[in-house]
Amino acid sequence: MNSVNPLNCPICGFEKCDFKIEKKSFSVYRCRSCFVHFVYPQPVKADVFKIYDADYFKRGNKYSQLSVAQEIKREDVINELRWLRKIKKYKTSGKLLDCGCATGSFLYAAKQQGFEINGLEISNSAAQSASRLLNIHVENCELPQTRHSAESLDVVTLWDVIEHLQDPRAVLDKANSLLKPDGIIVFSTGDISSLWARFTGRYWQLLTPPQHLFFFNPKSIQLLLKLSGFELVEWHYLSKQVKVEFLIFKMMEAFGKLGNIAAVFYKISGSKRKYINLNLHDIITCVARKSKKK
Ligand SMILES: [Zn+2]
Repeated sequence: MNSVNPLNCPICGFEKCDFKIEKKSFSVYRCRSCFVHFVYPQPVKADVFKIYDADYFKRGNKYSQLSVAQEIKREDVINELRWLRKIKKYKTSGKLLDCGCATGSFLYAAKQQGFEINGLEISNSAAQSASRLLNIHVENCELPQTRHSAESLDVVTLWDVIEHLQDPRAVLDKANSLLKPDGIIVFSTGDISSLWARFTGRYWQLLTPPQHLFFFNPKSIQLLLKLSGFELVEWHYLSKQVKVEFLIFKMMEAFGKLGNIAAVFYKISGSKRKYINLNLHDIITCVARKSKKK
């Protein structure tokens, strides 16, 4: 194993990190202390931004293209309602900011449940879709550039976002400063220490640089939260409702021809099923409370 020196872990600062794997010409390293995995060197910012063009949100039709013109069914926002149930144990209303809100499906569900919604999205096309759906201004920027003022928010959410960030610590520090003293942060991300991730190794469906730059585990998440002034209060491995179309897309991406065979079988079966409920216990959903001011 090659040890990179001097390369400090971007999460805990430990100076010993080992090369683990190369994927799509990106090298992934692992910190010997907190075991976070991360892409190094990272692509330049301009290239990261290019990933999130209009096509990104159409891959495998993953992101709900909810529209005010169509009836929005409960089955279209099942994951969002699961997340809201966790939030409502701590906050039943208030000012909520969803960072990386994509096309706005979570904010749509949050509004129905009585939250004052705000969105932020770096993809211009997705921000526009969300604005149209929600009839609000969705900021087209990163969290550090937000117009929200310090200690003005009750809830900050980041659904499958922190693994995309170039500097998760800076973003969580900013989230801390935006939250009121009793505010909460709620997010989901992949767990590279999960059985499924270890079993699938380099084929793990979330090991996808350069979209994903960080691969967390419970220890590194806990540390990241602590360093950003949060206390982890609960975490879960929730089931996820996945579009069959997206699942086939991911299988084709990961397994090539084998994935194509699955797609053919699905077509032959004549199934009209739009979603399936999956739980590979490799996605962790965390609720954390602001514990000190950053
Ligand atoms: Zn570390």
